[in-house]
Amino acid sequence: MDHQVRRARLAARLGELDVEALLITRPSNVRYLTGFTGSNGQLLMTPSAPVFFTDGRYTQQARHEVPDLDRVTYGTGLTEALAERSADVRRLGFEAHDVSVSSHAGFARALGETELVATEHEVERLRWVKDQEELAELQAAQDATDRAFEEILELLAVGMSERGVARELERALFRAGADGLAFDPIVAFGEQASEPHHEPGNRLLREGDVIKLDFGGLVGGYHADMTRTVAFGAPAPELRKIHDVVRQAQEAGIDAVRAGVTGGEVDAVARSVIEDAGYGERFAHGLGHGVGLEIHEGPSLRRGGDDVLPAGAVVTVEPGIYIPSLGGVRIEDTVVVSDDGCRVLGSSTRELIEL
Ligand code: ZN
Ligand code: ZN
Repeated sequence: MDHQVRRARLAARLGELDVEALLITRPSNVRYLTGFTGSNGQLLMTPSAPVFFTDGRYTQQARHEVPDLDRVTYGTGLTEALAERSADVRRLGFEAHDVSVSSHAGFARALGETELVATEHEVERLRWVKDQEELAELQAAQDATDRAFEEILELLAVGMSERGVARELERALFRAGADGLAFDPIVAFGEQASEPHHEPGNRLLREGDVIKLDFGGLVGGYHADMTRTVAFGAPAPELRKIHDVVRQAQEAGIDAVRAGVTGGEVDAVARSVIEDAGYGERFAHGLGHGVGLEIHEGPSLRRGGDDVLPAGAVVTVEPGIYIPSLGGVRIEDTVVVSDDGCRVLGSSTRELIEL
């Protein structure tokens, strides 16, 4: 993986940020720039000689995962090691969205003359655009997710609990090749599906329920995120209608995705389909979000959002309609943005499946 190319892109930003070095502490950003997968590592980004820091638990791992960087293993903590390596830095950037107030105070004390400069989401912004290797991992995660979905459809039976289905989904994801879970699966039966993010409980599956499944596999650190709502037996007529509206809204949203449009514009296209059907009030969340090393990242597709989608961004399109005590429908797919549209990563049907 070409972490060096990624670091070069970040290094090119330092001048504009008016810093000589930038301390990267957020784990997903450290991973993106170095390949380090452990829980404690930091990168002091400089144009010529970046330094990787970790503690004694990860000395070996860092040797394998970060062979191309100068590495420092610290005993007492990052602060002293950082002060030593940045002694001649006059302006040091840090990730304001990641550094706690107390860490900042510690840095300030140890760094003496060095001025600390707050930066926001510099690496996150680079991460919006996925490279080929990232796209391959995202595709593998999605493939496992599609296979797990196929498997779970075979397993669903009267009397299973939401929790039981969630555990089966997890096992199916691992069998399908995922090396982790993107997040704890959301499984909601019947009226429970009216909560957008329902925690699977003891509700048992009955004939006539809708089943909302929001889940995904994790491959190589990259997340899949898919939602399907299926009918177990004949659904109530309104739920069938809602499914149709959500499917059309999602299709309109996917059709509206292309490089150069804003997340807000795509959201508006999908939302108007739901509003025109009279369910505007029942779609109370954003249309989608970026996916990558984190399950929720930029760019964001939400009402009024001004993130401009670049080619190579990977985003979800996930409209939903939720009606208390009746149920809800959400359909979610992940797409890769291109100059002339987008490509859907998944292969699962978006038609209403009736089991
Ligand atoms: Zn989801
Ligand atoms: Zn999502």
